[in-house]
Amino acid sequence: MSRTHRGGAPGGAVDAVSFWQKHADEAASHPPLRDREDTEFAIVGAGIAGLSLALQLAEAGREVVVVEESVPGAGALGASAGIVAPQLVRTTPQRVLASLGRDVGGGWLRLIGESGGHLFGLIREHGIECDARPHGFVAPARGVDALRRLTAVVEEWRPFRRDLTVLDTAGVAALTGTVGYTAAVLDASGGGIDPVRLAHGLADRLVAAGGRLFHQSPATALTREQDAWRLTTAGGSVRAAQVTLCANGGNHRLHPLLRETVLPMRIHELVTRPLSAAMRAAVLPQGQALTDLEHDIFSIRWIAGARMLTYYPVAAHTTAAAVEAAVNKRLRDMLRYHEPVEIAHLWQGVAWMNSSLLPRVVRLDERLLAVQACNGRGIATNAIVGREVARMLLAPMSYHPQIALDVPRRVRGFALARHLPTVLLHGARAMARWSRR
Ligand SMILES: Cc1cc2nc3c(=O)[nH]c(=O)nc-3n(C[C@H](O)[C@H](O)[C@H](O)COP(=O)(O)OP(=O)(O)OC[C@H]3O[C@@H](n4cnc5c(N)ncnc54)[C@H](O)[C@@H]3O)c2cc1C
Repeated sequence: MSRTHRGGAPGGAVDAVSFWQKHADEAASHPPLRDREDTEFAIVGAGIAGLSLALQLAEAGREVVVVEESVPGAGALGASAGIVAPQLVRTTPQRVLASLGRDVGGGWLRLIGESGGHLFGLIREHGIECDARPHGFVAPARGVDALRRLTAVVEEWRPFRRDLTVLDTAGVAALTGTVGYTAAVLDASGGGIDPVRLAHGLADRLVAAGGRLFHQSPATALTREQDAWRLTTAGGSVRAAQVTLCANGGNHRLHPLLRETVLPMRIHELVTRPLSAAMRAAVLPQGQALTDLEHDIFSIRWIAGARMLTYYPVAAHTTAAAVEAAVNKRLRDMLRYHEPVEIAHLWQGVAWMNSSLLPRVVRLDERLLAVQACNGRGIATNAIVGREVARMLLAPMSYHPQIALDVPRRVRGFALARHLPTVLLHGARAMARWSRR
């Protein structure tokens, strides 16, 4: 693994390995796939979607093989901020219902509403030690009409969940220690986790339940055989009656219909050195995770060791010193109480987006499914999607659809569109800086 870089070399401030990946204990080691295997279910990718699905299948006593390019939690899960945010991304329940209809849209809304409780329940049930903090998720907003807008959104959610509350200006300030927000949605079912320890914990439970997990086994090809699919990896192959692709940004390399269906988004996260008790008492004292609803996203949470984790978009060739200065300015602007922070680790990961910004499970044929990208907010969502896909596979005739299977949808104007998420994310910060001049 590479080491954290400090010292300000241009472009050298950002690590490809996350804080969690750098500090986690080694994952239990599993050999690569070397032989020809047969199984009932095969899954590509040991992220949250693949592990959640595989664990359900193994616990039901079914044969399951997972092939992972690297080790569990090596993908977006391990790069993430670990925020459990059982919320929609840049859309509202009403818009989801309008575009997908009451049945399909309602199914997704119920599932997303349930996803935080499901994830923390899974962690509890399996006794996974992953610094789980089920203390809630706060999504504040600015502007004179924020209270009205957020109240309307919470009302739209009401047929599907009742665990959301709206905070007014004083309420947000008291709960978060931030300034400038005029309202917030408090989602009691959210919170935070250490995503790599979660991945390792789920992988251990999967193997204990009889699932077979192969590390360092990138799937390179998929071939249809009579009544099965053969999944070829770098060193072997698996023949499975049913394959589910849970490789996130890796899915599109495995089936031609998945090409150009998802868009990459580069996201930077950073963890500070330990902070004082005074800072901890002043900022999110009750331990919620916070991501605001502004284009110029502000996101913070506490993690183990009295460290703060925050999101900050880093331009190419920025020095570590410049990032630290900018982060301190941002925190000074956003927090009522602020002490200078030192960056302990800054990293970049790639999240993948569906053009609809909604979760999507695609059927490629009756024996091949793909859990598609999860829009930068897939930890809780893809855990529950894994559970639903397992239910569907275990009892296809009696499954009462919570999720409707979709068809692959190519992103229009992909050549340009693939740059958009990152450009918009970084552009929002630049715009905000410019507009405040
Ligand atoms: C920097 C960053 C911050 C984020 N923060 C949050 C957050 O705070 N909260 C939140 O909810 N979401 C967050 N997200 C998004 C979230 O991490 C993802 O939505 C979620 O992890 C997706 O889970 P997954 O299982 O679908 O994919 P992944 O976690 O990406 O898992 C896919 C797995 O497949 C493996 N793989 C890929 N190709 C192959 C292949 N050919 N063969 C075998 N294996 C393969 C990969 O190695 C990986 O382990 C963040 C994402 C990033 C990048």
